[in-house]
Amino acid sequence: MANYKFFPEIKKNFGFGCMRLPMKGDEVDTTQMNDMVDYFIANGFNYFDTAHGYLGGKSETALQESLVKRYPREQYILTNKLSTHFFQKEEEILPLFEQQLATCGVTYFDFYLMHAQDGAIFEKFKRCQAYETALLLKEQGKIRHLGISFHDKADVLERILTEYPQVEVVQIQFNYVDYEDASVESRKVYEVCEKHGKPVIVMEPVKGGSLVNLPQEAQQVFDDLHADMSYASYAIRFAAGFPNICMVLSGMNDMTQMQDNVSYMKDFHPLSDLEKEAVQKVCNIFRSMNIISCTGCHYCVLDNDCPKHIQIPELFACYNEKTTFHNWNQDYYYHNILTRNHGKASDCIKCGKCEKICPQHLPIRMLLQDVAKEFEQHG
Ligand code: SF4
Ligand code: SF4
Repeated sequence: MANYKFFPEIKKNFGFGCMRLPMKGDEVDTTQMNDMVDYFIANGFNYFDTAHGYLGGKSETALQESLVKRYPREQYILTNKLSTHFFQKEEEILPLFEQQLATCGVTYFDFYLMHAQDGAIFEKFKRCQAYETALLLKEQGKIRHLGISFHDKADVLERILTEYPQVEVVQIQFNYVDYEDASVESRKVYEVCEKHGKPVIVMEPVKGGSLVNLPQEAQQVFDDLHADMSYASYAIRFAAGFPNICMVLSGMNDMTQMQDNVSYMKDFHPLSDLEKEAVQKVCNIFRSMNIISCTGCHYCVLDNDCPKHIQIPELFACYNEKTTFHNWNQDYYYHNILTRNHGKASDCIKCGKCEKICPQHLPIRMLLQDVAKEFEQHG
């Protein structure tokens, strides 16, 4: 199934999300990154997605090295984003944009997205004339398409698309667990895009890895259906099967993940009825567990100066691991590694700074109380 109807320059409905990349220590593993880019392009894909803050700026430079310097410009689609943390006023937007072009080594971006829009960030972008500036850049040919990435409820998206009908594409969090989730509202958000005639790009199709590292009971459901299909394949094909979805992004840490993703997205087929039934069963299993919906984006740590230096995503992952897989080693990690030089969950002074940043709108302060109860009272 092709999605060329939306943007003819996009060759396939699967994109290389560069928020996560192969790493060697703190640096991008350039050799493996080159191989992954080559493999991706050789298999007919051409869409790459980055942002200025991804990997502390190393995502943009890695793309310059592995993609831009090694392939002609017309052979790939490059998406970048205007992120709220890098500007405070209108005058700062153009210099930031030029810096992004220079860091990537290109003269234009195919898509430029107003990053992580929610009600509050949208108001700031309006105050700073961010949409107007991006539209001007489009007129100048420095942006081919204007879009947004979005993290809020459906009514906020309705407002944005009504105020800025010039937005051409919307990137949303969409996966089979969040589809009917009351806080993420994937289905409702998707329907607003449809109503406004905006194609959708999917981020987090595997929910930050949660739909790959499945609980045993859920693994069994998929294993009974096809022993040789990866768990990620169900999540990615679920998202790509919706008619208004033009692109599914996947962050890939290594060549093995890329080969897996490419194997079923090269010649994409939506889920069969039997596979959809299995996904529904897995979804029900997932919902019955008390899992914290943290995607591990680390915004609450990187863009926030937590007064207690609490490693929020790691504590949540540790909690999920213990409650989902009954992995008691997590008690050791919690006490001896995660909180040895950082705050414990119970150290949280409830200032709320992290919650203002979290794109998932997680009640972090409340969830940390659950973590504290699990590890500090029972542990
Ligand atoms: S609410 Fe707690 S975890 Fe969040 S920034 Fe404040 S002290 Fe840190
Ligand atoms: S708590 Fe929120 S901001 Fe922090 S890593 Fe998880 S999803 Fe991201």
